[in-house]
Amino acid sequence: MQPIFPITHIITLDMNNLAIGIDIGGTNTDIGLVNPDGKVLQHKILKTWDYVDHRPYILDIAEAITALLRENGLTEVAGVGIGAPNAHFDTGCIGANTANLRMKEEIPLCEKLGAMLGLPVTLSNDADAAALGEHIYGGAKLMQHFVTITLGTGVGSGIFVDGRLIHGHSCMAGELGHAIVDPHSDRLCSCGRKGCLEMYASARGICQTYKELAAKGDLPDNFNGSELTCKDVGEMAVAGDALALKTYEVTAYWLAIGMANAASFCSPETFFLMGGPTRAGEALLQPLRRYFAENLLYIYKDRISIQLSELQANDVAVLGAAALIHLK
Ligand SMILES: [Zn+2]
Repeated sequence: MQPIFPITHIITLDMNNLAIGIDIGGTNTDIGLVNPDGKVLQHKILKTWDYVDHRPYILDIAEAITALLRENGLTEVAGVGIGAPNAHFDTGCIGANTANLRMKEEIPLCEKLGAMLGLPVTLSNDADAAALGEHIYGGAKLMQHFVTITLGTGVGSGIFVDGRLIHGHSCMAGELGHAIVDPHSDRLCSCGRKGCLEMYASARGICQTYKELAAKGDLPDNFNGSELTCKDVGEMAVAGDALALKTYEVTAYWLAIGMANAASFCSPETFFLMGGPTRAGEALLQPLRRYFAENLLYIYKDRISIQLSELQANDVAVLGAAALIHLK
């Protein structure tokens, strides 16, 4: 079934068309050709870190897209959507001095790439891309009210209410990762404040919780704190390791408080979770649902579900970016 888009917000496009989705990260730029069913048919990868000047970078992106079309026998696609850090939806630029990029000037991606390709190009941040990706290709088709939460290096969220993606005054709505869930915390966030949700529910936060719990009790036989990754903790939780399960219990507790607070100002139907730490599955979801129910305002009781994203895990970022072509 095709999603229904409010005319006021979503550009009406022929959903039979293919789209280009571009995920810009500090290391790689992943350029994918996406079909209307949410399948990435082919990827081209550029090494973002190789570029210090954005001019050859934009040229190479245009060339990669042209090659994707040529190799697939296409003459056109519906548009190009780009998810990037420090992306400004309103100007179509990646801001100057973006952390993790060597290209330090402002990058006028939409204008330059659009002119080279003769295609509509839309740029936005990863959180917007994740929410629209879920709406166009994932579990939120037909949903008018939902929130996506991406757990990873940080904690990002996209808010979709009344059929609209919420940008806010400075285009920065949805910084749920920097909602303070514990004002008495001693965990210092990169934003300079203490007790942000990100300090508990990001990959780094989960590792820290594991180490703190380990330090309180008997250390596991093969404990190596300096090399521990969140993926390790997740795998141990899935395997039934008590300390890892306790770690996810703590993670779920803080995440549930953040989500219960978010629910009280945007009344979603569903929260969709995505990102590496969600691979722990029920080790995260089971305590999360319990703590969420305990902390939720009673008027929302049994009215909000928590699900994992239905987007293909490896292609979430490219699919989200491709979905941005529906944004205006
Ligand atoms: Zn913060």
